[in-house]
Amino acid sequence: MDLLNTLVDKGLRRELPTREEALAVLATSDDDLLDVVAAAGKVRRHWFGRRVKLNYLVNLKSGLCPEDCSYCSQRLGSKAEILKYTWLKPDQASQAAAAGLAGGAKRVCLVASGRGPTDRDVDRVSETIKTIKDQNEGVEVCACLGLLSDGQAERLREAGADAYNHNLNTSEATYGDITTTHTYADRVDTVQKAHAAGLSACSGLIAGMGESDEDLVDVVFSLRDLDPDSVPVNFLIPMEGTPLSTEWNLTPQRCLRILAMVRFVCPDAEVRIAGGREVHLRTMQPLALHLANSIFLGDYLTSEGQAGKTDLEMIADAGFEVEGSDQVTLPQHRAAAVEGGCGSHESAGCGSVCGSHEGADVCGTAAVPAVSEPRTDLVAVRRRGAGTDLAPNA
Ligand code: SF4
Repeated sequence: MDLLNTLVDKGLRRELPTREEALAVLATSDDDLLDVVAAAGKVRRHWFGRRVKLNYLVNLKSGLCPEDCSYCSQRLGSKAEILKYTWLKPDQASQAAAAGLAGGAKRVCLVASGRGPTDRDVDRVSETIKTIKDQNEGVEVCACLGLLSDGQAERLREAGADAYNHNLNTSEATYGDITTTHTYADRVDTVQKAHAAGLSACSGLIAGMGESDEDLVDVVFSLRDLDPDSVPVNFLIPMEGTPLSTEWNLTPQRCLRILAMVRFVCPDAEVRIAGGREVHLRTMQPLALHLANSIFLGDYLTSEGQAGKTDLEMIADAGFEVEGSDQVTLPQHRAAAVEGGCGSHESAGCGSVCGSHEGADVCGTAAVPAVSEPRTDLVAVRRRGAGTDLAPNA
């Protein structure tokens, strides 16, 4: 297929596809799906080999957020029966992190609910970062604390944070439909602050919130402009008690097309399958490893993932290998930029839980939208690990 040959060539050269090409990937038919995976898989292997990076989430502070992000079980007014607790102490967070690292993770993602941290919160998280780094040699730490004020990214960097996550989530045009308490521009600003402070930026999206293909392409192209090193792709978990609880829009095939499109648009970035992997990809998870080079091990912030042991078996069975702490995740040109701090990225910008098919004719028959049955049976609220007395899943 000409489209796929073109996209592979561009991916190997880090050349941006056209919007029409990205839309055409989303519009491919089920008959073409394996060809799409194989093509995007070539780009994935060129930049990341067969390595899978494992990341481990530690929810430092859960629930009771004043913001109103519709997809989030921790939002203002959420009726979801999630764990709610205030800041974990540094030793508690370090203990949770150690479980993930023992399970094979190399990055720990420290997440806290809320609009953004106060300066006192930054002190608190700084202490936690230092404790985790003291107790676990070589660990990468990513902080995800919401919108940053001036100087906070620099302070986190000084405390030893390697990365900062803040997702764009959806297109600028639809952002106001999802959240009203902050703006898309606020989110872009925080990703740029993190980047400018020399943190490795992590910023991604959530698919399945009722967006169009154009929205998905818009947000992924915006991410490419911001040039994050890591791009988490979340598939909405429609949690009971949230406004989006009835949005069951995704099929495993749709998820694979979305991941392939992200890989083609951000070929040399760490593409991570984030929340919703088990719920929406289901038995197709191993195929998705040909597209993404990174996953979360074990549980998510407020919901449970499959057993960490099952994650490891899946990676081995699919012929991939867990990335070791002695291996560098990013391609050399990106890793060098992170080591040297900000300034080497292509673009001017320095970031848990993708309509109409303009380019469909490129690939022949457009995808027939499959009916997506609600799979509430696959959604389980997290009841173990951080904030509980039970052992974490890792
Ligand atoms: S995504 Fe973050 S800011 Fe938005 S409601 Fe959830 S915890 Fe709050």
